[in-house]
Amino acid sequence: MVDTVGHYMGGKQIPGESGRTGDIFNPATGEVQAKLAYASAAEVDKVVQYAKEAQVAWGAMAVPKRAAVCFSMRNLVVEHKQALAELLGKEHGKTIPDALGEVQRGIDVLEFACGIPHLIKGDFNSNIGGDIDLISIREPLGVVGGITPFNFPVMIPLWMGAMAVACGNAFVNKASERDPGAPMLLAELWTKAGLPDGIWNVVHGDKEAVDALLHHPDVPAISFVGSTGVGEYVYQEGCKHNKRVQSFCGAKNHMVVMPDADMDQAVDALVGAGFGSAGERCMAISVAVPVGEGTAKALADKLTPRVQALTIGPYNDPQADINPLITRQAKERVEGLIARGVEEGATLNVDGRGATMQGYEDGYFVGSTLFSNVKTDMEIYKTEIFGPVLSIMAPSTYEDAVGMVNDHEYGNGVAIFTRDGDTARDFTNRVDIGMVGVNVPIPVPMAFHNFGGSKRSKFGDTQMHGPESIRFFTKMKTVSARWPSGIKEGAQLAFPTND
Ligand code: NAD
Repeated sequence: MVDTVGHYMGGKQIPGESGRTGDIFNPATGEVQAKLAYASAAEVDKVVQYAKEAQVAWGAMAVPKRAAVCFSMRNLVVEHKQALAELLGKEHGKTIPDALGEVQRGIDVLEFACGIPHLIKGDFNSNIGGDIDLISIREPLGVVGGITPFNFPVMIPLWMGAMAVACGNAFVNKASERDPGAPMLLAELWTKAGLPDGIWNVVHGDKEAVDALLHHPDVPAISFVGSTGVGEYVYQEGCKHNKRVQSFCGAKNHMVVMPDADMDQAVDALVGAGFGSAGERCMAISVAVPVGEGTAKALADKLTPRVQALTIGPYNDPQADINPLITRQAKERVEGLIARGVEEGATLNVDGRGATMQGYEDGYFVGSTLFSNVKTDMEIYKTEIFGPVLSIMAPSTYEDAVGMVNDHEYGNGVAIFTRDGDTARDFTNRVDIGMVGVNVPIPVPMAFHNFGGSKRSKFGDTQMHGPESIRFFTKMKTVSARWPSGIKEGAQLAFPTND
């Protein structure tokens, strides 16, 4: 008999009422380790109403006091780094070093949120005319929703939620149903940090819970991270209900390797960015674009043995390079795409299908896989595989490489490896991609800059964290104020100007 994880409301876990549940698997063994309550629309409404009441006092609280809570939370997450990493390992499957990296990226945003008194400052003009002072103030929105994916269950709730609550909002996290343990621990830590009950809430579930947030009249903003199909729906449905929506979605990230690149450095970068977290990162490199036949051959020759040497393993195996995928369906999908690549004529240098490990025979493992001679019309090139599969494109020119990057439907991240500054500059100017790395394979910006993609990798015009997050999680109010000591203008019916 396994436990059922409930929702988080009122500073504690509460049981689900809908009667609907889902399974939480251990991806390394395939075993069900717990059940998860799925919220009905009525349960989501109950959480939103509770959050709405709590937000009034929180939004009115002195901003440095809100910063102090973020500071306590930052310290608690540092203290619980290992516990969070263990939870990530058990439910998501990622290795401990990878999980610790994720937690650190969440801490970075908490540290940024501690600067909220400075970040949320408005603008002021003294005497814009007739002794009137003009003040622009950033105010919280109320209750905001954060719909988060399975692949970063600590980092992404913190990226959204830390900034949302620092700005004075209440936050309702519809966490991924695959790995809800870490989001639940985060909620407990917020309570311990002194965040008032009702300001950080977690609801679990599927489309029903998401739709309840998208349609709720008391939720004015939704931040979403997940796949493009769902993200586009969330964006359109939320906008239809007059909400402010930002949706960060799927990706296919290229790494262009110029003939003058340091080939050892490029190979290291491709191994780390292509296979870390088993390729289940929105910023994973999944396409290598060597420029010219000689570069392609040199790259494939060096890369193939390195990819072959990567080992699968559970999260707590210090030798493991490649963690299991999140579900059995994900494993079957990725293996199906590998088969499709072979059918379509790509060269399979390393085949990760059928990977097993003693004691973990039912785990969702796919071994590291490398294709070469991949063409742009192949499914393995067009689709986000979200697994440990790297494609080396057929030899191209620099112009082909730029065209390829720009023609792809996704635009999250891209990298170029070169020793030539002119080429790097030309490339960064010409690619329509949100985050660009020059000799940096995973160009995820730090918390104090903005994060976000382009094209069908993002819907909505604001970015994640950085200064843009303040814009997303607040609304602007402008106040024109006059304290006349002796002005007597009489009634004016013409439109007021400062003449
Ligand atoms: P997903 O789209 O399946 O799920 C994301 C969230 O949406 C979850 O909370 C899920 O419960 C909910 N959801 C799923 N199906 C739904 C439906 N039909 N209607 C309403 N809600 C639904 O994504 P995932 O598999 O959890 O995460 C992987 C995806 O997220 C990849 O495509 C990856 O590239 C993307 N991602 C993007 C970024 C980014 O910043 N661009 C970051 C991380 C992950």
